[in-house]
Amino acid sequence: MNQNMYVNVLIDRSNSKLDKAFTYKAPKNMIDKVQIGKRVLIPFGPKNNQENGYIIEKLSHINIKNQIKEITDIIDDFPLFDYNVLNLANFIKQKYMCNMIDTINTILPAGVRNTDIDNNMEKYFRIKISKEEAEEFIKINQDKYKAQVRVLNYLIQNLEAKLSDIKDNLGITDSAIKTLLKNGIIEELKKEKNIDIYTDTHYIEKNIVLNNEQIDAINIIKQKFYERAFYEILLYGVTGSGKTEVYIEVIKEVIKNGKQAIVLVPEIALTPQIVRRFREHFNEDVVVMHSRLSDTEKYNQWSRVKRKDVSVMIGPRSAIFAPFNDIGLIIIDEEHELTYKSESTPKYDAKEVARFICRNNNAVLIYGSATPAVETYYRAEMGEVDIINLTKRVNEAEQPVIHIVDMKKELKEGNMTIISREVHKKIQQKLKLGEQVLIFINRRGFSTFVSCRKCGHVMKCDNCEMPYVYHYNTDTLSCHHCGKLIKNVNICPACNSKYIKFFGIGTEKVEDEIKSMFSWARILRMDADTTTKKNSHDNILTNFNEGNADILIGTQMIAKGHDFKNVTLVVVLAADMSLNIQNFRAYERSFQLFTQLAGRAGRTGTKSEVYIQTYEEKNYVLECVKNYDYQGFYKKEILLRETLDNPPFSKIYTIMFIEKNEKNIIIFINRLKKYLEYYNIKGNYKILGPSPSIIHKINGNYRWQILVKGKDEEKLRNFVTYTLDKLREKEALGDIRVVVS
Ligand code: ADP
Ligand code: ZN
Ligand code: ZN
Repeated sequence: MNQNMYVNVLIDRSNSKLDKAFTYKAPKNMIDKVQIGKRVLIPFGPKNNQENGYIIEKLSHINIKNQIKEITDIIDDFPLFDYNVLNLANFIKQKYMCNMIDTINTILPAGVRNTDIDNNMEKYFRIKISKEEAEEFIKINQDKYKAQVRVLNYLIQNLEAKLSDIKDNLGITDSAIKTLLKNGIIEELKKEKNIDIYTDTHYIEKNIVLNNEQIDAINIIKQKFYERAFYEILLYGVTGSGKTEVYIEVIKEVIKNGKQAIVLVPEIALTPQIVRRFREHFNEDVVVMHSRLSDTEKYNQWSRVKRKDVSVMIGPRSAIFAPFNDIGLIIIDEEHELTYKSESTPKYDAKEVARFICRNNNAVLIYGSATPAVETYYRAEMGEVDIINLTKRVNEAEQPVIHIVDMKKELKEGNMTIISREVHKKIQQKLKLGEQVLIFINRRGFSTFVSCRKCGHVMKCDNCEMPYVYHYNTDTLSCHHCGKLIKNVNICPACNSKYIKFFGIGTEKVEDEIKSMFSWARILRMDADTTTKKNSHDNILTNFNEGNADILIGTQMIAKGHDFKNVTLVVVLAADMSLNIQNFRAYERSFQLFTQLAGRAGRTGTKSEVYIQTYEEKNYVLECVKNYDYQGFYKKEILLRETLDNPPFSKIYTIMFIEKNEKNIIIFINRLKKYLEYYNIKGNYKILGPSPSIIHKINGNYRWQILVKGKDEEKLRNFVTYTLDKLREKEALGDIRVVVS
């Protein structure tokens, strides 16, 4: 029988023109090796250049038989992915409108794709001949080949040994080993290097008696788990209510049933802390995946999962792609964090990917948060997600008292510094007591807003309630949401004062100013500039926690999850910078951020305080933060979202054009607008813009955008995809890069 085998190959190059399957024939001698998920080398194009690709389909028949080229080589011995992974990749491709290869290359960690597998291997040696033969050899060569005999004796004792161990222990060179190998007396085997990236972790044994709320939560989740159906649960518990203990107990149950679990954390910075706690319970059964690992480390963690050596994976966003095959549970800790959304192509949302995986595996998905995302809480209200409440802080620790400080008053009374007199006094007190202080300043924005220091008025777009972005070069204010553009103002429209100006301070300046105020204090700073190295987050935090500094100044990074023992004062320097970010989620983000910051104080029960400095002391966000009132905040926020038709009441896609030539962008983005309006036949979609993006220029490239809003996500996505296809078909976009998110 003349058996033919064809394969569909996905070429390993990100290009929308190559975003489809190309059919190849497998030569006879490779047919046995053909498998979905293996990499191949193939001739491509008129010049038959060799390209890398992945086998994504096996075919026994095809219609067009001529001109089918043959595969040059099959690269892998084992497939890197299977049919389930392809399904997942397809889901991501559709949902986030990107090329298939981008999704595959996101799902497979770099270490798997790029590393020469040999680099991850270590050479071991063992005796190849029988024991009798070996003893015979030793007897005969006792005096002649001393080194070889010693190696054999060593291997009789140790069965297998690493090259380096043999050499170190026996103090010999390679040559004896090489000769033994050449004569077939010993053989070489390759084993994966065993790299444990958290070997330095020391476990702190703690005897925890779970409280009733925790026990109830655990029981409910276990019960859902045993129903073997897809469930989503919001574990809504105040900071310090012991959510992590709940996760651990539930995971134990999952493992007992032979299934696996993934725990997502929002930041690399948090992984060592949580890994330590998980190691206490699961030892070697836990692996970690994150972007700061080396390719080899990534490869090792990935293959330990693939080999079923471990049952739990912890890590930020990308850990969701752990190659488990029987997931029982996924936990998304601090589910409201924006870091679960990828910033690079494909711009996937790990929460949505988790949902897809759990649905396909009939698994339980837990969202943990003290300040749930408005969209998650809304889904819970609608009955799509179950809620479990943890209302008490463990150890009965008291919530810190939160004060709102009016900075307008400070200015009026002559204080020109960044710190109010009250806070200044407080810091001095705390330092005297030997207690620690945390000072938070929002990341220096890429753009600023304009506000009045006398009355607190913020310049906002009257269509969108969104703060205007100030553009230095043109002295204009633009609404990045709807595209409205006005001239900047010199006089406050609310109170006629001339103290209206743009807002912005950076962490460095804050550090300088605080150093000069408290010259005798030991100050640490933690922001993007000071934490580029692999363990620097952890080092700064450990340093601070061990009492080697009095004040820690930091950005968003310090807000999340850290267990500070001795912090009794938290200061938010300029709440305005968080409140007036040009995004409809700014209030939600601010509420979460400030609440979480407050949670950093008084973790061990000492009386502690939080001061939030602002020019908008009456803002309802701050009012609700002060009263620990999530529900109150949610009620106001969800109303505002509904009024302005923002998510969850709509879905918004941003279509961004990126290119060096700004004039060109403006021409084509206006054409895009015409196309969108033309195809929006029933008027179902709102088309906003074009306007310059918040980050208007980066690496010499300009960025402009149009927002498209609609009720039905899938229809909206089809509308956007269809219109962009038409635009590409009819207009020469040239070098313009189009990014949809
Ligand atoms: P959350 O994640 O809800 O903020 P954690 O799980 O981090 O809270 O718990 C905060 C601290 O309380 C941790 O140090 C944890 O070990 C401890 N803890 C948790 N549950 C209990 C308990 N039932 N009794 C005593 N300590 C607990
Ligand atoms: Zn004013
Ligand atoms: Zn607007």
